[in-house]
Amino acid sequence: MGRLSRGRPLPAVLLCGLCGLCGAALNFTYHGQAELEGFLRAVTREHPALTHLHSIGKSAAGRNLWVLVLGRFPTKHTVGIPEFKYVANMHGDETVGRELLLHLIDHLVSNDGRDPIITRMLDTTRIHIMPSMNPDGFESITEPDCYYSEGRYNGNSFDLNRNFPDAFENNSDIIQPETRAVMNWMKSESFVLSANLHGGAVVASYPFDNGNEKTGILQGHSLTPDNDVFEYLAYVYASKNSKMQKGNQCKNNKSFNNGITNGYNWYPLQGGMQDYNYIWAQCFEITLELSCCKYPSMKQLPSYWKDNKDSLIEYIKQVHLGVKGQVFDQSKSPIPNVIVEVQGRNHICPYRTNRYGEYYLLLLPGSYVINATIPGHNSMLRKVNISDSPRNFSALKVDFDFPFPMKPASKTTDETFCPEIPLYMNFKSHAEALKPCLLFLFLLTLLTITF
Ligand SMILES: [Zn+2]
Repeated sequence: MGRLSRGRPLPAVLLCGLCGLCGAALNFTYHGQAELEGFLRAVTREHPALTHLHSIGKSAAGRNLWVLVLGRFPTKHTVGIPEFKYVANMHGDETVGRELLLHLIDHLVSNDGRDPIITRMLDTTRIHIMPSMNPDGFESITEPDCYYSEGRYNGNSFDLNRNFPDAFENNSDIIQPETRAVMNWMKSESFVLSANLHGGAVVASYPFDNGNEKTGILQGHSLTPDNDVFEYLAYVYASKNSKMQKGNQCKNNKSFNNGITNGYNWYPLQGGMQDYNYIWAQCFEITLELSCCKYPSMKQLPSYWKDNKDSLIEYIKQVHLGVKGQVFDQSKSPIPNVIVEVQGRNHICPYRTNRYGEYYLLLLPGSYVINATIPGHNSMLRKVNISDSPRNFSALKVDFDFPFPMKPASKTTDETFCPEIPLYMNFKSHAEALKPCLLFLFLLTLLTITF
């Protein structure tokens, strides 16, 4: 396909016509930056109460990095409603995810008030969709290629999925405008769950992408303390996509059991986005590889949408896994920056309450002890029993009430406490404790969760 096959920007008058039919008007074609922007603007005009369009920054060449937010309160966070995000096309030549996210937007706005699942999801979740993190790369492609093109890189020739701070080794890359914009975006929202969409394979890959002996690389994997949750999340996506679940779709790639893989076990990489999400943004992110061919013919787009639609929706629902709540002081004022962790799965950079005193912890059904700690004070422990919360569109709600007042100064900080350096260099291993029970946890998950 040449450049024209992606389509030139549509005349404004035609876009206005599409706007009135926005649910039905999105074609299975490639949308360049102008068309993409036209579609997103049309959706927001048509659904002003449900959507909010904003740019989180500019690419190296000055293109807007658009994010469409959907939900009952799309312009701001609401206490108790978790934040979810999808990011596509960070490799500009991996194009399927970019178009699927436009169709997902179309599907969500068209079915709100019609489909009870979609309606409930929009009632209970704030969904952020970024169809392209690398518009410069996409626009630069003149000859679409299944395997490789310069469009992978941003306008300064950087690979954005190698461009984030790394938890295991120093990343000497100069942080690019697109990366910086996404890092700032993560600081501005309390994202809980995320996926980034790629192409060139068909598999759901989970952290870590990089590792050292502390996270288990001697066994060929690099695992997080939340590995049971990550395997489950990847499996939720793969299991709803019959081709991905088979695990052997692409001739030149390895075969993946159940269509999922640990990122490091597939191939190690430095500076990836999913590891950054987990370590520094308190957000569980997996990487979705959606097509063997990175930039397939537009004729194939309907079948990609058919294969991935249910997975994309089911995955969003998982933002309601586990437990959530607020931490209050004696006067019922919410307390930010309280460390709230599950006993036995501490994060290398402890997860903390946000500016509203909220925490969200993704956990599979089971019994856990939650530990809330205000630095300088005692911890408060709560035992919780978690059931199949995504089905109810709400995590278990457990608040903590500390029996003393907090000084106002300690309530107001929004600082990032975790330095963006290779934190795992001096970390004691958690991998040995995790290893023996991995298989058991995974089997238990498959037995106890009904999809
Ligand atoms: Zn990619």
